[in-house]
Amino acid sequence: MSKDIKIEIDEHSGFCFGVVTAIKKAEEELSKGGVLYCLGDIVHNGSEVKRLEEAGLVTIDHEQFAQLHDAKVLLRAHGEPPATYEMAKRNNITLIDATCPVVLMLQKRIKTEYDTEGDKSRIVIFGKKGHAEVNGLVGQTDNRAIVIESPSEVSKVGLDKNISLFSQTTKPLDEYNEVAESLREGLKQNGGYSLKFNDTICRQVANRIPNIFNFAKVHDLIIFVSGKKSSNGKSLFAECHRANERSYFISSADELEAAWFADDVKSIGVCGATSTPKWLMEKVADRIKEIITNN
Ligand code: SF4
Repeated sequence: MSKDIKIEIDEHSGFCFGVVTAIKKAEEELSKGGVLYCLGDIVHNGSEVKRLEEAGLVTIDHEQFAQLHDAKVLLRAHGEPPATYEMAKRNNITLIDATCPVVLMLQKRIKTEYDTEGDKSRIVIFGKKGHAEVNGLVGQTDNRAIVIESPSEVSKVGLDKNISLFSQTTKPLDEYNEVAESLREGLKQNGGYSLKFNDTICRQVANRIPNIFNFAKVHDLIIFVSGKKSSNGKSLFAECHRANERSYFISSADELEAAWFADDVKSIGVCGATSTPKWLMEKVADRIKEIITNN
């Protein structure tokens, strides 16, 4: 195989500012000493979680959180429902709140809508059921908001009153528009109810879709690096694959396979999700260089 192969790391991939800020907050707190718990994985990336756990961060789930007293707990960028703050207060837990300001703003908008409208309208959230951010959003409505995961679920929503529609910040804009269009049409046919469309997709992520599509198109082979749990990773990888069939999803450099780097591959793009650390993409690029050299 020719050694003259171009490897490019996508400059638009990697952590968004919400995640960078949460990690900075965790590092700041850890440097003060003492135990710092984090409620859920700080990012959907096993390698970065491991790096921070080695620095002293202890990841806990909601069950463990409920047992905790007199401790310091970091809330990650995804945010939490009001019940988490109430429990912290009861159990004398100091919260280091690293909820992303964009998510906080969205929580406030949903709460205001719910408090103002009450039973007059229905709140629908386009997002992944059970995702931490979505749980935080649903919590603003006493858990009454309806969550739909895809445009095909629109038929499950009651169409007998006005709807106020919100989206999880990381959903694809085109799917969100599709959901809105179907709901609007359904409401119109069902007695002329109206849809209030709230554009709540974070552009830190939405712009990555066209960016990554173009990036994947110009390379012969794409290595996409992300934690397997990341919903943003799944959407961005789908986009890579749409642009370039020779796209592979890996979580660490160990998953690279020499057979992917066939003779006709002259340019390789390395990219990833908003939760993928730059250092990991660099490590993957270095490992690719080694494989190519040894092939
Ligand atoms: S994707 Fe946007 S809303 Fe979500 S954490 Fe990052 S900056 Fe915040």
